[in-house]
Amino acid sequence: MSGVELVLRSTRVVTPDGTRPAVVTVRGGTIEAVLPYDAELPAGARLEDVGDHAVLPGLVDTHVHVNDPGRTEWEGFWTATRAAAAGGITTLIDMPLNSLPPTTTVNHLRVKRAVAREKAHVDVGFWGGALPDNTEELRPLHDAGVFGFKCFLSPSGVDEFPQLDRERLTAALTEIARFDGLLIVHAEDPGRLDAAPQRGGGAYADFLASRPREAENAAIRTLIDQARRLDARVHVLHLSSSDALPLIAEARREGVRITAESCPHFLTLTAEEVPDGATEFKCCPPIREAANQDALWQGLTDGTIDCVVSDHSPSTPELKTPDFATAWGGISSLQLGLPAVWTEARRRGRTLDDVARWMSTAPAALAGLTRKGAIEAGRDADFAVLAPDETFTVDPAALHHRNRITAYAGRTLHGVVTATWLRGSRIADRGTPAAPSGRLLERNQ
Ligand SMILES: [Zn+2]
Repeated sequence: MSGVELVLRSTRVVTPDGTRPAVVTVRGGTIEAVLPYDAELPAGARLEDVGDHAVLPGLVDTHVHVNDPGRTEWEGFWTATRAAAAGGITTLIDMPLNSLPPTTTVNHLRVKRAVAREKAHVDVGFWGGALPDNTEELRPLHDAGVFGFKCFLSPSGVDEFPQLDRERLTAALTEIARFDGLLIVHAEDPGRLDAAPQRGGGAYADFLASRPREAENAAIRTLIDQARRLDARVHVLHLSSSDALPLIAEARREGVRITAESCPHFLTLTAEEVPDGATEFKCCPPIREAANQDALWQGLTDGTIDCVVSDHSPSTPELKTPDFATAWGGISSLQLGLPAVWTEARRRGRTLDDVARWMSTAPAALAGLTRKGAIEAGRDADFAVLAPDETFTVDPAALHHRNRITAYAGRTLHGVVTATWLRGSRIADRGTPAAPSGRLLERNQ
């Protein structure tokens, strides 16, 4: 007996060395080997031949607001992880805010883990939160297995998760640097936001003017200064302003430990096409102009932007009022990130290898998930099987997240996720999730 339980065969297996015809053998939920396409198959193993569908490493989405417990009418672990599985995501890391309690103490983390355990259709980990008054909680949270700490430099949108001013940012970062943890940052400068025109209403141009690029650029400058001074590890969340790319690139050249992510909506949607009053497109920082988007793609190409993750941040429909100033800010895209990004990537001449790097390998590396993020021996047998040339039109009724609102409704996208595999078991088939089999992950697992 070979002990191999599954053999996956495709003419397009996306490996760290490129995409090629191959068979992937799985034993005990782990990739045992990636063999030539015509290799002799181990006896007794189940063969899954997916033909010319591409096999990517399961996506790792490090930016998801699950909101459970406390705001489960917005989203919950059951619905979010079903949407993830249907969309080719095999690991998600939950943001520390919008749930009640927020993940800001070890006890709160225990509450969150207990709620997630039975509902997880994909593997789930947790970010902790850095608040003005919880600095002494950071090390215990780190020891309890959170992947790092999120903070805001401007108001978060929920009262229980206040932002850090410059002094409190220094205090948090000083503490996090003591154990070489990671601070992930919503980088918009509150002073620049206050100084911007706040007109309110349904006009997208007014909303865009209220969250200027300079707010992001200034906050990122502050962050770089602090990271340099304290030799701390920092990550810029949901980068929208392309003006900040040279700042980040220059800091890295100097050895500052800074990484950055952008999101499917910044890379596929433009300010020019957002209808007035269409607050399903509202997020902070905002979707900007087409020229800004071109520059973000250049940032992906040259490696200044490491990761592409969803920032799935849903709410109930009632909170998506037609006024951009008061509507809840957040775009729901968990199930659609892969086809959305692939549609634009292929149009721009990029490959599935690039997409796998941005949406799986790099986010896994950010979180230190050494068993995730690549199709190679010794990693978890997590796969997203994609029909890259098939198209579909986004129908909100086919989405599994709790409130079926999405900025992508009615769009025709390339790339149908035909199956998702987690540790060698199929967890979704043509958009239909199987029973939950996800695990809770801790840092350094
Ligand atoms: Zn977010």
